[in-house]
Amino acid sequence: MKSYDVIIVGGGLAGLECGAILSKEGHSVCVLEKNDLLGGCFQTFPRYGRKLDTGIHYIGSLDEGQLMHQIWKYLGIIDKIQLQRLEPTGFDHIHLDSGIYKIGMGYENFMENMLQQFPKERATLQQYIATLQEVGNTSSVESLQRGTFSDGGMRYFYQSASAFIEETTDNKTLQRVLTGTAQLYGGVRDKSTLYSHAMVNNSYIQSSYRLVGGSMQVTDALARVIEENGGTVRTNCNVTRIKTDGTKVTGIEVNGEEHIEGKLYICTIHPQVAIPLIEDTPAIKKIYRRRIADMPNSYGVFTLYLLMKDGAYPYERYNHYVYGKRDTWYNEAGEKGCLITSQATSVEQKYADVITILITMPYDEVKQWEGTTVSHRGEEYLAYKERKTADILQFVASQGFDYADKVEHIVTSSPLTYRDYTGTAQGSAYGLAKDYHDPQRCFMPTRTRLENFYFAGQSINIHGALGVSLTSLLTCAEFLGEEYLAKKIGYA
Ligand SMILES: Cc1cc2nc3c(=O)[nH]c(=O)nc-3n(C[C@H](O)[C@H](O)[C@H](O)COP(=O)(O)OP(=O)(O)OC[C@H]3O[C@@H](n4cnc5c(N)ncnc54)[C@H](O)[C@@H]3O)c2cc1C
Repeated sequence: MKSYDVIIVGGGLAGLECGAILSKEGHSVCVLEKNDLLGGCFQTFPRYGRKLDTGIHYIGSLDEGQLMHQIWKYLGIIDKIQLQRLEPTGFDHIHLDSGIYKIGMGYENFMENMLQQFPKERATLQQYIATLQEVGNTSSVESLQRGTFSDGGMRYFYQSASAFIEETTDNKTLQRVLTGTAQLYGGVRDKSTLYSHAMVNNSYIQSSYRLVGGSMQVTDALARVIEENGGTVRTNCNVTRIKTDGTKVTGIEVNGEEHIEGKLYICTIHPQVAIPLIEDTPAIKKIYRRRIADMPNSYGVFTLYLLMKDGAYPYERYNHYVYGKRDTWYNEAGEKGCLITSQATSVEQKYADVITILITMPYDEVKQWEGTTVSHRGEEYLAYKERKTADILQFVASQGFDYADKVEHIVTSSPLTYRDYTGTAQGSAYGLAKDYHDPQRCFMPTRTRLENFYFAGQSINIHGALGVSLTSLLTCAEFLGEEYLAKKIGYA
């Protein structure tokens, strides 16, 4: 039996980034992914000859000299993926009431657009930008070069995003515009942290890009880096048990039969799924297991993929956040609001292959089918999905997005689909929820009480390409040292 330096559970962005970093730094690694395809939320799956993305629609701070660019440059994948910069004069269009508010890329464009729409709010907007930059700069290329991943970012976890916006401006429309992309960070009015709001918005305002031709390019490129550095990436490897001797992990059971050993273990799957896999051990107390099991999750997403007829609908280099008259924060009452985004397979393309509509929803809406599996959920579930689809299409048509006669096929997924494919608890889009009232209660450290077992992935700190990447660095720094790794990336 082969033994590895590091075994990594989960082949999404977190698992593959950790694998790439550690294999580049000379460790023998083995990444274990339960699915046929790598990628998790970065997975691209084929339907009716089109490529559909599971959970990545655009990524921020990818201009040269910006944080994501620098991390992926160090990892050796930045020139292996097909990126398209979104429209600088408005990469996100926020549709409120009957107006469209365009978010400009780069702080100059951002300010120019906002002042056209809110001419009296100059001082307010300057203050808003200053805070976004202050929070964003806690993790930047400069901080990496100084040898740290985060210069005091944690304090912004204790501040409320909505209170910050409401203190910044009394203008209700501007408040709604500034929180128009709240869905991107699992935004909930009375819970979301200033950290999530500012990190995410700062990153996208700096620069916004789409992965043209499928988000899976990223995770495939990372897998190649691992293999080129002597590491192993295995698919169809469902981790079914994490074995311990009381103080440390001694091995991993795969598919209920195979035993694999390593010196260190990194687990990137949802903690509520991972903890029950750990054998009974005094190191992981019952109270801890219960605490993790009771932690609230972020909401789910219902995704509608409209596979467009050839030449039927223009490919747009911007996204739409559509709310009508409603609030922009998550709305438990089910009032509709959604993100609409276009997909293409090449940067030259004039027409969209796929239009994706994402609408947030509570898990409870599909809970009655939680005992079922993909393709075996029964007629009632199919009828529910059909109703929901018709409802969403009617809503977007009422807001000016009429796709009738332009669509060839419709593919849908619910939080149950995400639960079964990416293994996220309750199909939550972004893993464990964050709450500024008590950040420590929602906080999962990278270390555990098992001395050689660590966490990474979207439930630790914040989710998204940037959040997950920063956590991958933190976890790998446990073995490599923060200053060493930060400087290596910062000066790559
Ligand atoms: C609908 C949606 C839209 C999103 N849009 C964006 C966006 O536009 N931009 C952005 O930056 N972020 C976006 N995100 C968030 C982003 O995609 C995620 O935060 C990130 O990809 C999570 O990476 P991860 O590696 O932590 O988790 P995952 O991608 O969930 O990876 C976990 C992996 O572990 C595997 N696994 C689970 N259990 C086991 C097991 N027992 N054994 C072996 N393997 C296992 C899973 O199959 C999966 O491959 C979106 C997410 C969703 C759901």
